[in-house]
Amino acid sequence: MVKTKIIVVTGGVLSGLGKGVVASSIGLLLKSQGYKVAGIKVDPYINIDAGTMRPTEHGEVFVTEDGGETDQDLGHYERFLDELMLKDQSITTGQVYYAVIQRERNLEYDGKCVEVIPHIPMEVRNRILKVGKRTNADFLIVEVGGTVGDYQSVLFLEALREMSRELGNVLFVHVAYLPVPGNIGEMKTKPAQHSVRFLNSSGIQPDIIIGRGEKPIDRVRREKLSVFCNVKLDDVYSAPDVDNVYKIPLILDQQSMVKNILKKFGLNYKPGRVRAWESFIKKATTAKEVVKIGIVGKYFDIGDFTLEDSYVSVIESIKHASWHNGKRPVIGWLDSKKFEKNPKSLDELSGYDAIIVPGGFGSSGVEGKIKAIQYAREHDIPYLGLCYGLQLAVVEFARNVCGMKKASTTEIDKNTPYPVIAILPEQEKKLKEKEYGGSMRLGAYPAQLKRGTLVYHLYGDKDNISERHRHRYEVNPEFIEKLESHGLVFSGRSPDRKLMEFMELPSNTFHVGTQAHPEFKSRPLRPAPLFDGLIKAAIKKKSLHNI
Ligand code: GLN
Repeated sequence: MVKTKIIVVTGGVLSGLGKGVVASSIGLLLKSQGYKVAGIKVDPYINIDAGTMRPTEHGEVFVTEDGGETDQDLGHYERFLDELMLKDQSITTGQVYYAVIQRERNLEYDGKCVEVIPHIPMEVRNRILKVGKRTNADFLIVEVGGTVGDYQSVLFLEALREMSRELGNVLFVHVAYLPVPGNIGEMKTKPAQHSVRFLNSSGIQPDIIIGRGEKPIDRVRREKLSVFCNVKLDDVYSAPDVDNVYKIPLILDQQSMVKNILKKFGLNYKPGRVRAWESFIKKATTAKEVVKIGIVGKYFDIGDFTLEDSYVSVIESIKHASWHNGKRPVIGWLDSKKFEKNPKSLDELSGYDAIIVPGGFGSSGVEGKIKAIQYAREHDIPYLGLCYGLQLAVVEFARNVCGMKKASTTEIDKNTPYPVIAILPEQEKKLKEKEYGGSMRLGAYPAQLKRGTLVYHLYGDKDNISERHRHRYEVNPEFIEKLESHGLVFSGRSPDRKLMEFMELPSNTFHVGTQAHPEFKSRPLRPAPLFDGLIKAAIKKKSLHNI
């Protein structure tokens, strides 16, 4: 008997509807009812994982505790549910086919002809059920990537249809877009109706429809959707555009969604369970005073939408920390290449209360980032460096404070006389020996913090902490003494003391870097310590200015 109940979330009409947020919101509401919830994202692409894709292609690569390089939706699940998601919760077509072919080569199919049907859906099903078993979840929320009607998602839908027939405890939630064409000025339901037809042609009848649109759905349109899509009126929900995505769980709760879902599974609803979330939203939406954060990066020729997607966890971390401190964040995107071409433009940085250099790869825009870090250090603008942002802060300090003029990372200059950031041979060997033979340091690693440092205090005076990583290069131990003798403090190291995980400059209000990506562990109700510290420092500096 399978205990886990499954809620499948599909999307219709167009992509970018916020299916991940809807799936996470349903999960949060179920969790607040006392159930254990896990999320699964199935993605139709052939890539084994998101690690090999540019963030501009498919958004941020979200790193899990166990080192999975997954779809950014797992980040939404973690943030809303405050539960850890592991790499097997991100399933791709590539993984499924790869596993089936490997099994065939290992003679595991007893001489049978291995075919797309039934073997591919069977593999999908086994993977989903395995997550249910491992997590011991009461509810599994399975979000299907892409849009129904896409050729690529057919086999996933087929697997879910079969599961629903066999297990009987599967509920289908369809999120569809309801446009308001400018020339007509009224909300149209036809595209949503067609997307339900697409689902029907895969043998799936949605149990619940969530209408996404600029505005709430009125009674007339709900009735239309009910009649034409063959669902009860009470099973049509409205999720209009909002200024803050964390409001979505409350909007769905006001429409008794979770009560309805529980009823469908024969379970009881207990009212008033989302109080903590409600007060968080109140704090977030009433914050008036602004804190201005500049993110210095290089992904700027690609349009605003992709930008938000590429840095989603960093952006959310800034929001969590700002709201927690009663401020409204305003994020500015600063093109590092501009600083290279025109150093005068660096003065733009003085308009920001804090600066972040996030993770990145390659040489493009790097010199501009280094210049921005120098500006932040010299003008005491609170600075947080994430991964590449730590590495480049070390390069900047080596060049401009320690007198190592041509210091660099070997990622961009193999022949630098001062390779302050480099691939450590011992580290490279260790990573290659890992099961997947990769060369990246991925997933959660422990660090020991140095007592009395700012970082130590920010992490609540803990000696040992853990954060997630995704990088190849490290601070070169040969230069540690020199860097520290000029005032830089490595405030956290790996337990074997060999890898520098955190740095800070005690001479500044806040000049901190980490080799890790703390943005993956920030939660709405529990901001990441370094982001909280950055915002607090920004507020402190700001109030000094205003005196
Ligand atoms: N490019 C750097 C490295 O590989 C930093 C990576 C990152 O910022 N995630 O070490």
